[in-house]
Amino acid sequence: MQQILDAIMAGDTSQEDFANLTLPESYRAATVHKDEVDMFEGLTAKEKDPRKSIHIEDVALPELGPGEAYVAVMASAINYNTVWTSIFEPVSTFGFLERYGRLSELTKRHDLPYHVVGSDLAGVVLQTGPGVSRWKPGTEVVAHCLSVELEDADGHDDTMMDPQQRIWGFETNFGGLAHIALVKANQLMPKPDHLTWEEAASPGLVNCTAYRQLVSKNGGNMKQGDNVLIWGASGGLGGFATQYALNGGAVPICVVSNEQKAAIARSMGAELVINRSEEDYKFWKDEHTQDPKEWKRFGSKIRELTGGEDIDIVFEHPGRETFGASVYVTRKGGTITTCASTSGYMHEYDNRYLWMNLKRIISSHFANYRESWEANRLIAKGMIHPTLSRTYSLDDVGQAALDVHNNAHQGKVGVLCLAPEEGLGVRNPEMREQHVDAINRFRGV
Ligand code: NAP
Repeated sequence: MQQILDAIMAGDTSQEDFANLTLPESYRAATVHKDEVDMFEGLTAKEKDPRKSIHIEDVALPELGPGEAYVAVMASAINYNTVWTSIFEPVSTFGFLERYGRLSELTKRHDLPYHVVGSDLAGVVLQTGPGVSRWKPGTEVVAHCLSVELEDADGHDDTMMDPQQRIWGFETNFGGLAHIALVKANQLMPKPDHLTWEEAASPGLVNCTAYRQLVSKNGGNMKQGDNVLIWGASGGLGGFATQYALNGGAVPICVVSNEQKAAIARSMGAELVINRSEEDYKFWKDEHTQDPKEWKRFGSKIRELTGGEDIDIVFEHPGRETFGASVYVTRKGGTITTCASTSGYMHEYDNRYLWMNLKRIISSHFANYRESWEANRLIAKGMIHPTLSRTYSLDDVGQAALDVHNNAHQGKVGVLCLAPEEGLGVRNPEMREQHVDAINRFRGV
């Protein structure tokens, strides 16, 4: 691996020299093990500790197939999907790998007794498989995490609709929390050149997801002036949703759980912020019963902040805990967009408030190829900024995942893979200087 790192760090290595690098037979990676999927049996989700299930070990380099690329991973990031994988909830990801393995001779490679996790990367193309012409060895890239086969017409308008749609590093093997990753070449996108490796790796999955869920016509189709309620506004998804709302002339109403997070939301430019801990909302009286009075109290707070207006779009992801309130506070004809259920996936809401007021619930999941490209383009143009708060080494992926599991983080948590230290990889220092305050907003808080 040292030879690969030296070639990247040299800065003047030719495409030919990159193509001629000898790749190792094995590489270092963060994995979970199939024979350990029952290790947390009997524990609550919160008690399950990713440090116990995530291993850092050498794994064999998989064969390179047509249309694929090996990428030397300089940096990656923690997503909530790595938390789910590491606590084996709601299901073990080995089922995904087994199903994928049954698809074709080539995909059999993914069905292994270990799962290399991680759905983000910034790095350098090392080799490409047959049929790849656009991406050359030595090109600096980021990768989005949409893996599709594109053999079925269902996915031809919107690649998220491909029946063989998978999230790379979650529903496929050979993910980004490693020294080398295997991706489909059409996951690759240019690395924003004003960012460090760890900054460039961090927006990926959540930025693309927030773009589709809020901005795209496939999601909220947000317009100027919309009141957008954003749960977890300083978290992974919410940190980008808040930026999209502000960029697009909408009015974010940011919900967070402490003053530090409220300060981050304000520093992004949000003026309307609700501290849900301070307000002490109790949307559920007990495990089975919601309290509509609390929905109303939440709605009153929103009206107090907006000058009497209700919500046009709710950016939902906490799920069971908040969904009833989200449906209630949406204005007549408004939209609730949902991409997740962190607090539980069996949602309950009062359907009278939905149908009588012609509200719509729109489901959203990651982003299609085009949406991913647009979301990355906005990062590259300095119109949307990374939200990196802290960076760990590859050896500490378990701890990094635990922080996210415990909601003890802000924005995104980065991981250095091959990059020996933070701060490397900036190719356009002038542009960086223009945006440095925004890039560092989540740092050190
Ligand atoms: P994150 O960085 O942990 O941020 C989520 C934020 O939501 C938390 O920081 C917290 O903010 C808030 N939150 C958590 N539980 C809550 C609750 N019970 N009530 C109210 N607010 C709550 O995670 P993320 O990366 O944004 O991901 C959030 C969820 O979306 C995860 O379940 C993830 O798997 C899912 N996701 C889905 C997709 C997709 O494509 N479908 C993509 C990305 C993520 P405060 O404490 O400040 O309120």
